[in-house]
Amino acid sequence: MTTEERFWSKVEIGETCWLWTAGCNTYGYPMFWDGVATVQAIPWLLGHPAPGEHRHHLCKNKRCVRPDHLRAVFSAQHVRIHAAERKTCPHGHLYSGRNARQRVCQTCMNESTRRWRRRKKVIS
Ligand SMILES: [Zn+2]
Ligand SMILES: [Zn+2]
Ligand SMILES: [Zn+2]
Repeated sequence: MTTEERFWSKVEIGETCWLWTAGCNTYGYPMFWDGVATVQAIPWLLGHPAPGEHRHHLCKNKRCVRPDHLRAVFSAQHVRIHAAERKTCPHGHLYSGRNARQRVCQTCMNESTRRWRRRKKVIS
């Protein structure tokens, strides 16, 4: 079996995603033994992205190795894509309505205003 055949023997080709069925690293990304070392499966298949670029999963499936589900994006853009997908603030409150677009958490804002008022009361 060639290394390439071994690679594809670990991939489950579905109707949409091509899922990696072998081991993943702690971040959930596919890992592959290339005969010399354990490497990340996606760069092994597609090559490393250009400096400053990341590969983003359009399907949001970290274990997917389907080339057309992966898009090279600049790292700053990548961070923005994921921030826009987030549905809750860092404290786990759901963004809603107008705040969803601005990524401002009303619950956290209310809480910090309340805290600030309380502190003011203590001082005065
Ligand atoms: Zn996919
Ligand atoms: Zn991504
Ligand atoms: Zn919040």
